[in-house]
Amino acid sequence: MKAVKSIKQQIPENHDMNNMMETFRDMVNHCIRIGLKYNCSTLKRLSLLSYHELHQYDILSSYKLNAISQACGRLSQMKRDIRKGKNVKSPFVKKSYLVNCYGFKINNSLMSIPFEPRQPINILLNNHTVKFLSDPVLKVHSFTLTAFNISICISKEIDMIECTKIVGIDRNLRNVTVGNGELVTFYKTNKLLSIKQNTVYARSGFHRNDHRKKRQYYKSLQQRLQNRTKQYLHKISKNIMDNAVETKSIIVFEDLKGIRKLYRKGNGQGNKYRGKLNGWQFYELQRQIEYKAKWVGIPVVFIDPKRTSKLCPICGDRIQEDKQNRRKLLCINCGKSMDRDVVASMNIAHKAWSRFNHARGDTCEGQSDVFESAMSEPKLSDYDDVVIRILDVSKSVTGFGSR
Ligand SMILES: [Zn+2]
Repeated sequence: MKAVKSIKQQIPENHDMNNMMETFRDMVNHCIRIGLKYNCSTLKRLSLLSYHELHQYDILSSYKLNAISQACGRLSQMKRDIRKGKNVKSPFVKKSYLVNCYGFKINNSLMSIPFEPRQPINILLNNHTVKFLSDPVLKVHSFTLTAFNISICISKEIDMIECTKIVGIDRNLRNVTVGNGELVTFYKTNKLLSIKQNTVYARSGFHRNDHRKKRQYYKSLQQRLQNRTKQYLHKISKNIMDNAVETKSIIVFEDLKGIRKLYRKGNGQGNKYRGKLNGWQFYELQRQIEYKAKWVGIPVVFIDPKRTSKLCPICGDRIQEDKQNRRKLLCINCGKSMDRDVVASMNIAHKAWSRFNHARGDTCEGQSDVFESAMSEPKLSDYDDVVIRILDVSKSVTGFGSR
């Protein structure tokens, strides 16, 4: 299977490159206009229609071809959205950028991108990028330039790991719980909440009556919030992936759709509560784990989140909320009080196992091959046997791999 990923690094500003990026953006917009006019979104037809019109732009022809393909991508995305019944605007590229898959060379730490015939622009790659690209199995496909960054698109052939275990991931406000009937790991995410709160606090401290400044300030705060959150989530997702590879486990997510709909204005919830829940980047962790898993060959599957915290993972009966402690659940049948998040992650793992292993009809086309027949059932003997550990990645990550 082919896995694709990109590696990104910062680059210093360059006048020639900025000009090229602006021209590239204009070409993409030009092609989009042509595509809309003739209502076409196939690459071949769009190339025929627009290639000769691009002669007015003073740029190498490889960029023109890439601009057409970029426009094509945006047009077909629009068509897909229309088919889905979404409310779409016609595509338009605002920021200048540049993509090219032809004629660039990487020689150790120097990357040369085509500019004028036989006069490339050289970019110095940093140590991290060089080290990453030195892997001989990698294939380099294309590069994308934006105002401050370059990302290089790479791919490699990977073999899927034959998994024997399965772990469920439950995302909550204050923690991410990863586990199955043997081992459950809590990743604390309190820090994310405090990052968010700090941002809200800093925002409230702005008193100047100046719209423009206010927007600038808010934007920079938002950027900082996102960077910090992302970085923190990367630590968590890396840890989860390392464990999954080590134990050869399939990763299961709840298919959370419409999470924002639950906490919209007018749903009878307080402002603070909504702010907290909407501030959680539920999707970001999933995105990171999905691409990291693909890169190492660990399958990721999704299941319906229905009733994952309503049934007892041991006997399968309905369980009740503990009146005294709302994070605890009580099973009358087993007579046990269990942690809500542990229950959820165990149930997610088990649900995925039973769904895909006892494939019935059309429920799991194309995904059942992921589940080997040798895969062991997530052990659900006794709640007390589950090993629970709590991790705070902000404090120490080192020395964790060797338990
Ligand atoms: Zn029970």
